[in-house]
Amino acid sequence: MQEAKHEIERKTLEERHQMSDLERLRHSCAHVLAAAVLRIWPDAKLDIGPPTDEGFYYDFDLEHRFTPDDFERIEAEMKKVAKENQVFERSEMTREKAITHYENSGQKYKVERVNDIPEGETITFHRNGEFLDLCAGPHVPRTGNVKAFKLLRLAAAYYRGNENNPQLQRIYGTAFKNKTQLNEWLEAQEEARKRDHRKIGREQGLFTLSPMVGQGLVLWMPKGGIVRTELQNFMQSELMGRGYSPVFTP
Ligand SMILES: [Zn+2]
Repeated sequence: MQEAKHEIERKTLEERHQMSDLERLRHSCAHVLAAAVLRIWPDAKLDIGPPTDEGFYYDFDLEHRFTPDDFERIEAEMKKVAKENQVFERSEMTREKAITHYENSGQKYKVERVNDIPEGETITFHRNGEFLDLCAGPHVPRTGNVKAFKLLRLAAAYYRGNENNPQLQRIYGTAFKNKTQLNEWLEAQEEARKRDHRKIGREQGLFTLSPMVGQGLVLWMPKGGIVRTELQNFMQSELMGRGYSPVFTP
């Protein structure tokens, strides 16, 4: 499984209030995802579900190993949660009550996330339907506002990004205001994938990549070697033709 690329820092209340409409929608969709996962796998332990540049994610700890084959089932459950048009209801708890609540439900990561909240800051929960989550918001008013979403991929993510911690399963997804925007974005992603130089270069036998050598390090194959040499020769002759005098330094 691919490793997660980013760890999201806890947002301050001020930063939360600055979340754009799209970020609110995407973060709300993360709640819908978590609610759906809990309906299918009630023993799942939850961490956090922030918005990202391309959508959102939610981190889970559960025995079942997610595969992309699970996406259809999870998305179908998410659609049900959206269709139920649940209101995102805000509530508050004291620190002691919040910790007891999560200890009783075996949500150990959430207990730690409660402890992250600075003294004096209100401990806020949001409920949609049966799913209650530690979260200061903001969200869209109802799950029915989450109309166009797609689960994208999985990644392994160490809790808090620390390799000494348990490895969680991250589900990435995205959400848009409507299906047209979602489909446009998905098509653009697909086009970009087709034009990815890493894909084209390998298909044409120009180079290969190997995790044994290192991520992103190119191993030139004979055909790629020809292209590379031709380019170097061309550059060399252009430089010479334009009067450059090469110097060499240690
Ligand atoms: Zn939230």
